Amino acid sequence: MSFNNESYDKTRLDEVVDKLVRGELKMHEADKVLGNSNAGALARRLALERMYGVSLSSIGSTILDFEELVGRNIENPIGAIQVPVGVVGPLRVEGEYAHGEYYVPLATTEGALVASINRGAKAITLSGGARTRVVRDGMARAPLFWTPSIVDAVKFVEWVRDNIEGIRRAAESTTRHGKLVEVQPFIAGNLVWLRMVYSTGDAMGMNMATIASDAAARYILENYPGKASLVALSGNMCTDKKATAVNILLGRGKTVIAEALIKRDVVLKVLKATPEDIDYVAKAKNLLGSAYAGALGGFNAHVANIIAAIFIATGQDVAQVVESSMAFTWTEIRGDGDLYISVTLPSLEVGTVGGGTRLPTQREALELLGVAGGGEPPGVNARKFAEIIAATVLAGELNLLAALAANELAQAHKRLGRGGVRQG
Ligand code: NAP
Repeated sequence: MSFNNESYDKTRLDEVVDKLVRGELKMHEADKVLGNSNAGALARRLALERMYGVSLSSIGSTILDFEELVGRNIENPIGAIQVPVGVVGPLRVEGEYAHGEYYVPLATTEGALVASINRGAKAITLSGGARTRVVRDGMARAPLFWTPSIVDAVKFVEWVRDNIEGIRRAAESTTRHGKLVEVQPFIAGNLVWLRMVYSTGDAMGMNMATIASDAAARYILENYPGKASLVALSGNMCTDKKATAVNILLGRGKTVIAEALIKRDVVLKVLKATPEDIDYVAKAKNLLGSAYAGALGGFNAHVANIIAAIFIATGQDVAQVVESSMAFTWTEIRGDGDLYISVTLPSLEVGTVGGGTRLPTQREALELLGVAGGGEPPGVNARKFAEIIAATVLAGELNLLAALAANELAQAHKRLGRGGVRQG
């Protein structure tokens, strides 16, 4: 729904704008005074324009209905930022959930990104597609507890193990789709983290897991006979919005893998590089370069580029690009010189319901992939989505490695007149 100066009682609106400019009304109070969040957004925008002598008319031009979004997705809205969306495809995916050819929407302002991934997608599709598998699925929240001593910490963990059914009942009482799959205990000194892992259907699950863990933590404190208190509902062993080893090793969200065998002639014709050069660049750059740099989960060429663009297009929690783009890219030379490539994403946090997925443009992007909303049975849409993302990441990795190999190694071969190729 768009809104403009004409849609509302002009006098009332002007009064509110005047008060906002003079500081007599707080920005968040405009919606209540005007009785409508779209009017509130307009008043805030006009006040800011006057206060700072700028035009925010582009930001103010939006299809969003803030009556729908305030209280769920945004506070103090003044409009929307528009990001261009391009598509890559057709990208053939042969997963457990995703089968067929897809056009994948990417929202970015980085010129050449879509074209680059598109070339990788072409090579993959011409070679029969990307195979994908979700090998682990669970959203984690890790409440942090204080106990008096290490002896108490160990007793506390034992009690949690013995009382898991009660804890599970408490957690699952808060949600229809969330199921407590596992509690992973960690002790440091007298402190205990209980990393609670949930299956969350088609939701990314962070709110769901937080609400359920709150109920579980309260159950524990009410029933544990020893001394313990809750330090924080999120103790950072979860781990949300930080790149961590725990997410790599134990997973968070979807652990998803994509692979493809790119035929030699496709590599030569489409990617304009040799499989051997790509394999060498992959190992020297992605593995040795990343190891030397001390990368944590960043053993890849540019996975964050693809994850960020898909997350923005489809209404995912963009801050989770941090851990969702931790990835390992691997290559091998196979058979008569074909190129095998895989990417492993240990912590891809995505959903097709909840959060920003309900916004109109983001929902359309999910519809384009055939994954909008809840799946039947719940969870299949989110897993299908994760498989498509992994295949798109594979396309991005393949193309950048090929471009680097073609630009640098191929030129070097020409310059130095070398007939042979380097082996990884
Ligand atoms: P949510 O919108 O809070 O929860 C998903 C909702 O969809 C639940 O009410 C669930 O009902 C319902 N639902 C209907 N059909 C479903 C299906 N097929 N599968 C799963 N759920 C279904 O979303 P969320 O994914 O849990 O959390 C995402 C939001 O959390 C984002 O906005 C993100 O920015 C935010 N976030 C929160 C925290 C935090 O600490 N709270 C941290 C990071 C991000 P039932 O619960 O009854 O099953």
